[in-house]
Order: sequence, then structure tokens, then C-alpha cells
Amino acid sequence: MKLEAFVRHVRWRSPLRAAHATDIHAAPAPRPLVLVRIESVDGAVGYGESAPLVDYDGVTLEAVLDALKLYEPVVAGSAGLSHAEILAGCAQAAHLPQALAAIDLALWDLAGQRAGQPIWALLGSQAPPVVELNWAIGAEEPGQAASQALGAVARGIECLKVKVGVGDDLARVRAVRAAVGPQVRLRLDANGAWLLDQAVNALRELTDLGLELCEEPVHGVFGISAVARALPYLTIAADETGADPTLFKTRICGSVCLKISRCGGITGVLRDAVAARNAGYDIYLASTMDGPLGIAAALHVAAVVEPVRPCGLATLERFEAPEVLRIRGGRMAPPPGSGLGDRLVGWYDSL
Ligand SMILES: [Mg+2]
Repeated sequence: MKLEAFVRHVRWRSPLRAAHATDIHAAPAPRPLVLVRIESVDGAVGYGESAPLVDYDGVTLEAVLDALKLYEPVVAGSAGLSHAEILAGCAQAAHLPQALAAIDLALWDLAGQRAGQPIWALLGSQAPPVVELNWAIGAEEPGQAASQALGAVARGIECLKVKVGVGDDLARVRAVRAAVGPQVRLRLDANGAWLLDQAVNALRELTDLGLELCEEPVHGVFGISAVARALPYLTIAADETGADPTLFKTRICGSVCLKISRCGGITGVLRDAVAARNAGYDIYLASTMDGPLGIAAALHVAAVVEPVRPCGLATLERFEAPEVLRIRGGRMAPPPGSGLGDRLVGWYDSL
């Protein structure tokens, strides 16, 4: 099989300002994505995507391209090997989940194209999933945050996630809660920006506003565990810390956010979902500002991992790009067609 990688840059329409950004007021550079194409000797083609997000996971575009170069000979010599064996060979050449995800997605897509079936069906599901979404609100001024919240709720979104750990968190979250009323679910995401004491104090102050959960208040198993123990009445979710496999050894908090890119693709999400559930966590899915191939992959895998909370997959509209994977009534379903779905690759060509 032949592996090719194409770098694309997509401009932002409405960037999500988070605590991990180097300068939250600067206009962010276009977001790089890597489209990967695998062609088998019989001419069948599968597409995947790598979506490293350096502010979030520390992984650069260059690191992904270097890893994909090392995967080329593995994929070229993969005749007769299984999906798992090809992934294992690639992981041995360079263990980079963000790059492995592209290979995994392309192999799933290829299998779906060959079978004439969508991936949710290959995974054993009887019907396509309809995934409830959350809408993320960046570290905006309170008035701006409130108006974004109202806009999302008007489109059927029933769960909002507000970025915290930067600026006046209390004013921002208060403004959102006041705007949307008590029924809408409200979660926070600090992207690990708080110190332990800051996290506990801030969350004590914010908890009266009715919180569904707080994602990554601090980074690391030790810190998240301490915050969860200090605030037993509030669900704490691990996101970035999900890259640490020790998270899955013993339950240290309530929930884990799984991502196609960080987990290493559909196969990685399936693996981590089992590990998380066995440890006693509930799970939900989110994007790392993925392109439509990554979002579609998460929608397909949702059919079998069955996230119990709204998922952070409503991120494509933040890009200045053609609309694909439309949000309907605050929910999203996988696109029609075989493999990852129809009309997704054209999105990358339009950039
Ligand atoms: Mg997060």
C-alpha cells in the first residue's frame, strides 16, 4: 500500500480562546491539518487525518510529518498484515498518537470503502448514532460569552462549555448562566491552567451556578485526584491528562473526555473507552479542532462507545470553510456513505 500526506491550512472564523493559548488576544495562525491517503495495490483508497494542536497537546505539525515519513515503509510493506499489525508497526517506528490516528482512520475508511459500509456498521452497530453536542464558549468578555450562549441554545444546544482559568471566570460563567437560565447544562474547562488551590477555590465559588462538570481544572493525575477529593459534590473530568495511561488504572475522578487525535484514532478511542469504563469513569468525546474526517470518526465510534454526556464535536463551524456535517437540533450524525462518509475529502481540497 502507498501512503501520502498533504498539509492543509484552514483559517479561523471564530477561534476558541482558551487558557492554554500563548496569547489569547492575538489572531491565531491558520490551523494546520494533515490529510492522509492510503492506496492499496488493488486501487482501493482510504483517507485519514492528523490533527495535532500544539497549544493543547504540545505536538507540532513537523513532528507529525516526521512520524508519517517513518510510517511510509511500514505501510508500503504491509501486504498481508492486519489493521492491528500495521498500526503496531507504525507505533514501533514512531509512537505518536496524533500521527497514528491518521493511519488508523485511513485503514478504517479503506475497510468501509471495500465493504460498501459505514464504519458505525463495521463496528457492529445496527443504526447510525445521533450524538448530542455541547457548544464551547471561549474566554470572552461576559457580554460576548452570554450572547454566544444564547446563539447556541437557539440552535438546540442543551449543554454549554465555558473556558475558564483566564480573565474574569466568575463574571463570564455568571453571565452565561444568567442568559440561558437554569435548565441548560453548563460545564467548565480550565485546560489545566489553575494551580491546585486556585482550582478548588474557584470551583467552590462557581458551583452555585449549577455545574455539570469541570474539565481539566489542573493537569496531571495527582492534581485532578486532589481536586476531585476536595469537591466530592462536583464531577471532575480528565481531558489532557487522558494521555497518561495511569489515569485508567484507578478511578480518580468522575469522567474522561476521549479524543480521536490524542487516543490514536478510532482504535485508540475504543481501547481507552474500555479502559475508562472498567476503571469506573463515564466518558464523552470531543474534537481537538479536527477537520471533518476526525469529527466523522468520532461520530462513528460514538455508535459503540455510547458517550453518556454531550460531546464536544461542534467545532467545524469555527473554521472559514464549507459546511459539512451539519448540526441539527443540537445533535450530529455520521455522514452518509461508506467508510468515514461521503463529501468529506472535498472539504480539504476547498481550503
Ligand atoms: Mg478540554
